[in-house]
Amino acid sequence: MAGKDQVASFNTSEISPPRIINLDNGDPTMFEAYWRKMDEKCSLVISGIQFLSYFSDTKDVCWYLEPKLEDEIKRLHRVVGNVSVEDYYVVVGTGSTQLLQAALYALCPSDGSNPVNVVSAVPYYSCYPELTGFLRSGLYEWKGDARIYDEGGPYIEFVTSPNNPDGSIREAIVKNGQGKLVHDLAYYWPQYTPITSCVGHEIMLFTLSKCTGHAGTRIGWALVKDKDVAKKMTEFNTISTIGVSKESQIRAAKILGLVSDSCLNPGLDNFFKHGKALMAERWEKLRKVVGQSGLFSLPQFPKGHCLFTGEFSTKAHPAFAWMKCNKEDIVDCEKFLRGFQILSRTGRRFGCNAKYVRISLVGKEEEFELFLEKLLAIQEEIFCTVANGWPWFTKEVQLVP
Ligand code: PMP
Repeated sequence: MAGKDQVASFNTSEISPPRIINLDNGDPTMFEAYWRKMDEKCSLVISGIQFLSYFSDTKDVCWYLEPKLEDEIKRLHRVVGNVSVEDYYVVVGTGSTQLLQAALYALCPSDGSNPVNVVSAVPYYSCYPELTGFLRSGLYEWKGDARIYDEGGPYIEFVTSPNNPDGSIREAIVKNGQGKLVHDLAYYWPQYTPITSCVGHEIMLFTLSKCTGHAGTRIGWALVKDKDVAKKMTEFNTISTIGVSKESQIRAAKILGLVSDSCLNPGLDNFFKHGKALMAERWEKLRKVVGQSGLFSLPQFPKGHCLFTGEFSTKAHPAFAWMKCNKEDIVDCEKFLRGFQILSRTGRRFGCNAKYVRISLVGKEEEFELFLEKLLAIQEEIFCTVANGWPWFTKEVQLVP
């Protein structure tokens, strides 16, 4: 148990108060101040007579989708210019988590003799193996890293761009004619990354959680090119939950509407500019602290021309920091940080090794600041215990092991 011994050898109680900082989940509470300011503009009164019916528009492929939500989803995408919405069907889900499962269901033949293989490139979003495997479906089966997948035959690849956990911009990896792609674009919004092109894939998934920070409303949406796939995804949501809460849908419509207004009306505080400034500030502070030593390293991101802001050379500021511990004898970075009451998500959950952790950068301000303080203290503590500076880290850092 080398990790435990290492942690024990540093006097953790001296450098950190016994307060646990949870940076494991990506609970997006960082836009709190913005939404507090907008409070009244987003308030909604729902009367007792509303939403007695399961149905919204029975002529729509997604029969439970509130027309107002569909309008506001399409309007926001047009305003931002991140994806094309013309000729796409909108399927709404209880978070994009439900839609990921709906997409798997829709893309697998119901009469197939073998489960369809599901892959994603390492480091992949940690929920993909969980949601693919937990019901032990006969329709599909998790097969892990897309980079080493060579089985042939039908498969489904999740393409996450920008990627969770490492923020990289991605394209499909497996080059095989029988593959179907699900593009998870949860973070393809200007606060996280430059919007470099207006994309148009077969199935594109988004979520209110990461777009506006309203994770608790549990609304996700899919833009689907093929009518039959949209129908099957709707069928999945019909069988599993008979649609999606209408209260959540009209709240999501109101919020998305306000975000679009904020981009178009100079009198309002532009949500994405506000969000981008916040994310840029956090990344700058984090890089400054991490740069004080070579104990940890962070990925670098290329600059791009953002079609939304018009900036020619702007960097990504992802929702998560994919941090590597460079000290050779710390093999389990999550365990190491846990010793200092910092909870992170181990690289193992993303198909990587335990040298890596994912740190959420979208939590509350106070927690983030406390994290930086602790990180600084950890580095100083270790620096003091190592004679002659930093003999133990390698300067050359590999992003994907
Ligand atoms: N895809 C990605 C890449 C995510 O990071 C998340 C949230 N962590 C989701 C999907 C699911 O989001 P939700 O269910 O909150 O809509």
